[in-house]
Amino acid sequence: MSKPGTEENPLRVAIVGAGPTGFYSAEQLFKDRRYHVLVDMYERLPTPFGLVRYGVAPDHQKIKSVTKLFDRVAQRPEFRFFGYVEIGTDVTVDDLRRHYHQIIFTTGAQTDRNLNIPGEDLEGSYAATDFVAWYNGHPDFRDCEFDLSVETASVIGVGNVAVDVVRILSRTPEELARTDIADYALEALRHSKIREVYMLGRRGPAQAAFTTPEIKELGELEDAVVWAPPEEATLDPLSEESLAESADRATARKVEVIQSYSQEIPETTKTRRIILRFLVSPVEFIGDEHGHLQQIRLVHNELYKTDAGTLRPRATDREEIIPSGIAFRSIGYTGVPIYGVPFKSSWGVILNRDGRVIDPDTQEPLTGLYTAGWIKRGASGVIGTNKPDAAETIEAMLDDLEAGRTLEPDDPSPEGAEALVAARKPTYFSYADWLRLDEIEVKRGEEQGRPRVKFTDVHEMLAALEKEAA
Ligand code: NAP
Repeated sequence: MSKPGTEENPLRVAIVGAGPTGFYSAEQLFKDRRYHVLVDMYERLPTPFGLVRYGVAPDHQKIKSVTKLFDRVAQRPEFRFFGYVEIGTDVTVDDLRRHYHQIIFTTGAQTDRNLNIPGEDLEGSYAATDFVAWYNGHPDFRDCEFDLSVETASVIGVGNVAVDVVRILSRTPEELARTDIADYALEALRHSKIREVYMLGRRGPAQAAFTTPEIKELGELEDAVVWAPPEEATLDPLSEESLAESADRATARKVEVIQSYSQEIPETTKTRRIILRFLVSPVEFIGDEHGHLQQIRLVHNELYKTDAGTLRPRATDREEIIPSGIAFRSIGYTGVPIYGVPFKSSWGVILNRDGRVIDPDTQEPLTGLYTAGWIKRGASGVIGTNKPDAAETIEAMLDDLEAGRTLEPDDPSPEGAEALVAARKPTYFSYADWLRLDEIEVKRGEEQGRPRVKFTDVHEMLAALEKEAA
């Protein structure tokens, strides 16, 4: 048999995970005209696009337009989508080995990190990742309940996810009603009593992970004012020095925006307050007699310079207690292992070198297994960052193909893989199914002046497709 990649013997690739990196990987594979490649994309959920659908905030529709590119990739005849098929359970990695020459894992970072402080498990303490998935209509999170009947909320962490959560908590129902937020979340937020939201950063303004447009947008909400205590918005001498040395304009601009919030708040009719805090770390969540979060004990930090030159936080002996009936920890996403794929737990990523999955015993690449995106490098960067990341992995794959290092599947025929999926998960969703669901969602949205009204339940999705087909 000739080397795969020809018309007669196409290179068969399985992509596991239909988020942005999965699509960027497929696009990159199709771009290389030297090889004939057939791609099957597997996704645990019925619908494609991963964090673009279930992570990007509903009031950031422009970012979601990247799906037009993914749609173009999916329309190619060499592409198939198997939605609602979980690799590791419905179909195993060994099953895939029997049908594909190469397998790429692009499953992203699906879960949250813990603070490891007392009281973290109290009622009212949640992971931001759960809240984000809930308001975005992720089928696994639609039944979550968040008690929004309290007045004060806290978000721990100062990354862009924290800003998203603060914004969604601080927007009016009218603002939210123009988005594709899940219907049940819109209803719950309509009755929210939250009027004060703290965002808590453990380092100073110059080290905040959020980006300038995101923090600026908080100041533009219809019914919320933003305030930062002047003593925390002012840079400490180490940050001042490091910023001057680095001549980092982007960070200097971000600090300016933060400091613009530290002026006295002019008289306003706005009813909600966002309070940006810096150099504080939660050390205890304090509950009431019913085990419900009521307050957070904070320690004030100071910064010190590490040998590597970065500024890290160190606790002082100054403490403070703030009211907080609900808290969302937003301190980064982490990956989830896939059965049969080596995992580096301490980093929450698949064990890999430049995208090649590595055998933990020999430290040598495992033939045919690759990874890209957040599950390869951790949860960092914007959606577009995953494009060059995917390109690096695809380059490694094509180098290996050239060198004759691929799996040797028993049955690389497209029919063989399809039969396997149909046997294991007869209710799988094709891309054509998704396009029909998409059309229905958008149509339901038009009726309400919204971008779409999402299906949030797999049974509802199946029923809608059946109704259409009938
Ligand atoms: P992130 O950017 O890594 O931010 C995590 C935040 O958590 C940082 O402020 C970090 O502080 C803090 N943190 C970590 N451990 C902590 C602890 N033990 N106690 C207190 N604070 C702690 O992560 P993210 O916000 O989850 O975002 C993930 C990625 O998605 C980022 O690249 C982000 O830019 C991107 N994203 C982009 C958008 C957008 O473009 N609009 C929206 C959402 C997400 P330290 O810096 O001190 O570690």
